[in-house]
Amino acid sequence: MGALTNQVAIVTGASRGIGKAIALSLAQEGVKVVACARDEGKLAEVMSASEEAGAAGKIIPTRLDVTSRSEIDAVVEQVVGAHERIDILVNNAGITRDGLLMNMEDDQFEDVLTTNLRSVFWLTRAVSRLMVRARRGRIINISSISGLMGNAGQSNYAASKAAVVGFSKSTAKELAKRGITCNVVAPGFVETEMTDKMGEEVKKSCKTMIPMRRFGESAEVASAVTFLAGAGASYITGQVLVVDGGLCM
Ligand code: NAP
Repeated sequence: MGALTNQVAIVTGASRGIGKAIALSLAQEGVKVVACARDEGKLAEVMSASEEAGAAGKIIPTRLDVTSRSEIDAVVEQVVGAHERIDILVNNAGITRDGLLMNMEDDQFEDVLTTNLRSVFWLTRAVSRLMVRARRGRIINISSISGLMGNAGQSNYAASKAAVVGFSKSTAKELAKRGITCNVVAPGFVETEMTDKMGEEVKKSCKTMIPMRRFGESAEVASAVTFLAGAGASYITGQVLVVDGGLCM
């Protein structure tokens, strides 16, 4: 039995990459994970991977497009109906639509803000109502070092990820007295489909700037999230835990 047995988590963007690793890591600790994304085929693969790792029945694949407030509210209602509790919320779903500021289209900016920021507001608002009644809860939002340092070609993405930090600190201040913590994990470069788009040459030059000289693995981000969800992080709130091999220090 894992340390978090019988707790219930919602993890967005759980069909691949970092979100998948987070879902699997929490399931390994005994958490019932409502694993949300649009690609139901990929979510089924996450469920199988969890079963193979000895955590059968812990992943609950759930179709959710986080750009839809009504879908978010319906999923939260469905989880409460089925489990009567939500202990952990991990807002991980995110997209990039990179481009230089001067050429950036309105929809490039709006799409990134809606997926990466509005969804965090909608989900946190819905779930916090339940957590406040329970007087307990852990909210973990995935930002990025782009939101801390800025990155050329990512004004939309960096704006959304910096906003997640301000949103999380405000949420932490509002909810601390109700026994709820809210923290941020800010990954650096991590090997996923998101960074596959960069191409080998760009990746190589990025690695020269990283003190540890390599990209991170999704599991290395997941272990930071699992720590913040666990008993060992009970007195930590409003913090940004950077997981980047030393790039941003
Ligand atoms: P990824 O491999 O591209 O996966 C993105 C996940 O988000 C997928 O599961 C995708 O699922 C989901 N998603 C995207 N749009 C969605 C929507 N509208 N509704 C529901 N789910 C949606 O990306 P990743 O690298 O794992 O990134 C995960 C998080 O870490 C993101 O917030 C990202 O900004 C952040 N991050 C990543 C890196 C990195 O280097 N990889 C660095 C810093 C921060 P579906 O397509 O199935 O819906």
